[in-house]
Amino acid sequence: MDNQIKQKLPTQEYCSKCASPVTIKIPKGDNRHRAVCTTCGSIFYENPKVVSGCLLTWNDKILLCKRATEPRSGFWTLPAGFLENNETVEAGALRETYEEAGAKTKQIALFLMCNLPHISQIYMMYHGELLDGDYSAGLESEEVRLFGESEIPWDSIAFTVIEKTIKLYFEDRKKGNYGIHFDTIDKR
Ligand SMILES: [Zn+2]
Repeated sequence: MDNQIKQKLPTQEYCSKCASPVTIKIPKGDNRHRAVCTTCGSIFYENPKVVSGCLLTWNDKILLCKRATEPRSGFWTLPAGFLENNETVEAGALRETYEEAGAKTKQIALFLMCNLPHISQIYMMYHGELLDGDYSAGLESEEVRLFGESEIPWDSIAFTVIEKTIKLYFEDRKKGNYGIHFDTIDKR
């Protein structure tokens, strides 16, 4: 295991409890730098965020959203977004899919878990079928449409992890067997 994790130092400047300035230091008994309040002593721990989303199909085509927000506005992606507190990963994937693509599905299965340690994110991507073929662009999408394998806009896919998800999906579809994949994209 990687015990020598290169840490990006916290950028927090003020305590979110008492609004005093924080200092960046390794608290006693810890081994990593944290933001520590200079007045009330609160220690602020920052941890990775989970992004979950869906690759949904309809008649062998996959549903992609054209992003209407930065980063990567105008590029195509699968519906996905940050998990909310108190939400399951699966529920988050379904919520994002409805919010961004107006799409529903009966059943989804985990397809890819991908570490992105350089940005402290973990992607959990599911796959499934559209419930009824209905979809519509949500606020964060400029356009939503179905793409056959030969129509995928590979040069305009927003993120490496999304490109990876789509490629793995088509590979598995050829084999007729959908696995659960684990991967890491590390751009450090
Ligand atoms: Zn404080």
